[in-house]
Amino acid sequence: MTDQSEFNTDYDLVVVGSGAGALTAAITAQAQGLRVLVVEKTDKYGGTSALSGGGIWIPCNHHFKAKGGNDTPEKVWTYLKNAIGDDIDEPRVRTYIDKAPEMIQWLENNSRLRYAVAEKYPDYYPHLDGFLPGGRTLDPELFDISALKDELPNLRQASRGNLLMGKISWTARQAHVAMSKSPGWRLMLMWMMLRYKMDFMWRKKTGEQRDRRTALGNALIASLRATLIDKNIPLWLNTNFVELIEEDGRVCGIVVERNGRQQRIRADKGVILASGGFEQNPALREKYLPQPNKIEWSATPEGANTGVALEQGQKLGAATALLDWAWWTPSFLVPGETKARGVFAERAFPGAIVVNSLGKRYVNEAAPYLEFVTSMYADNKVTQGKTFPSWVVFDAKFRFNYAMGPLMPGQIMPDMRLRKEWLNKLYYKADTLEELAQKIGVDVAGLKETVKKINHYAETGVDEDFDRGGNVFDRYYGDSNVKPNPCLAPVAKGPFYAMPIQGGDIGTKGGLLTNKHAQVVKPDGQVIKGLYAIGNTSASVMGTTYPGAGGTLGPAMTFGYIAALDAAAQK
Ligand code: FAD
Repeated sequence: MTDQSEFNTDYDLVVVGSGAGALTAAITAQAQGLRVLVVEKTDKYGGTSALSGGGIWIPCNHHFKAKGGNDTPEKVWTYLKNAIGDDIDEPRVRTYIDKAPEMIQWLENNSRLRYAVAEKYPDYYPHLDGFLPGGRTLDPELFDISALKDELPNLRQASRGNLLMGKISWTARQAHVAMSKSPGWRLMLMWMMLRYKMDFMWRKKTGEQRDRRTALGNALIASLRATLIDKNIPLWLNTNFVELIEEDGRVCGIVVERNGRQQRIRADKGVILASGGFEQNPALREKYLPQPNKIEWSATPEGANTGVALEQGQKLGAATALLDWAWWTPSFLVPGETKARGVFAERAFPGAIVVNSLGKRYVNEAAPYLEFVTSMYADNKVTQGKTFPSWVVFDAKFRFNYAMGPLMPGQIMPDMRLRKEWLNKLYYKADTLEELAQKIGVDVAGLKETVKKINHYAETGVDEDFDRGGNVFDRYYGDSNVKPNPCLAPVAKGPFYAMPIQGGDIGTKGGLLTNKHAQVVKPDGQVIKGLYAIGNTSASVMGTTYPGAGGTLGPAMTFGYIAALDAAAQK
């Protein structure tokens, strides 16, 4: 027995971190009758989850079913088995398939969180058996953040890249309509801008610049945080977890730093580590991730996730896996912004190509982000260091019609309205391709040859090198009005533009090894009693793959739910 007098505070369960998995765990545990505490190191709650797209990949979910969708656990298993391969952790993956739909249905019945199915958002690997062209990704509904009251200023802000014009919230479904220029897109955008403008009184009253109706990851976190408020579940900000307390072979609490002093918090039923990966720790990045990689290329909140939970778990003998993997995402470094911006959709728009400094394409630009950066690393080996950075190259027609990172389409934001400090850092411009290539240090002949090829492919509709636009996933963000291939258009009309793109990430993928109950295990499979890990603190259940949009948050929330139920069942 632990001597209670040694502890400053006493709870049944402590959750470290305040991302989506953590808050899901806290709500679930409290519903099971546990006294729960959530501790968050920074002065903002929500972590990377708050600035994410908020999509969750939940196969066989009830929203899809209600719309007549057809998915089965066996189909999902086939898909994941094909994607992950022989290294698949069958008990964990089968548990995920079984519990993910239960988790989201339970959460919608017991919290303010609401999702809708993104029926057109395909899984990421169309070539695999078990793939679905839509229905497994759920997209948060808009959430009115005035419900957060005093806790509103502490909500981590959405990333600018996720907001229309840097300020207006939109769901992933709305973003898709606009980006693919599907019927009605102009009217929809005008309505959204009008709605934002008309709500000026709220912004004036609250001093808030952000949209009252928040979307994506911000809606996910805000609605879960509002539920914690409803249910009086405490969340301590500025509370830094530093150490696990283990007694009699069982984790029974943590040490935190709060208000300048250390406190010991008792947690008889266990500790759930949900404090993200090690993406914000330069030393651990250097130690585990492939080179080159830089903390500045990561799109995650600066200084937040530094891998303390990983190191603490390792101290107790925990096994680890996938430490050399991240949720790779190409990114732009925008001058004046503190973190990189992930480049998720724009790579599929017709007329922008990506080349290395030899001027050669090496990847289907529209490929899923994890695969894109994996190809960057592979090509960098071949070119012996000439692939970081790569260059997104496009012409005046593309510039007029489409966004690329923070460059809104020229028809909305002409060059003269772009920030001066962006020129020759975020983007380069020249009248001819030769001049552009010289400016950015790319081989002139290589680039011209590549452009000649792509212009031919745009005409025929077939990318003979990488089959860009050759599947339903690529075409999701293609321009539906462009024929014959919505992802291909010529790079022909000057002036020409180039933007450096890096191999960034939206979090690390490796971490503490867990079993199907989200319990942390040792290399021999023995459980570390009382210790759970979820989200990017744990090694991903998805192995080295990213099966569909929401492939990180779906498991984080599902294993948060599972961990809470398991902790509650402990004697
Ligand atoms: P986090 O959400 O980062 O939460 C960890 C929390 O722990 C942080 O608040 C941190 O401050 C806190 N913490 C860290 N150390 C300590 C400590 N010592 N003590 C106390 N607290 C601590 N994934 C999807 O599945 N779907 C998407 O649509 C999606 N879109 C994305 C878009 C963008 C722009 C980005 C950047 C990411 C996106 N992701 C998406 C990835 C996803 O957001 C992350 O993988 C996920 O949020 C990780 O969740 P987590 O709970 O592990 O970490």
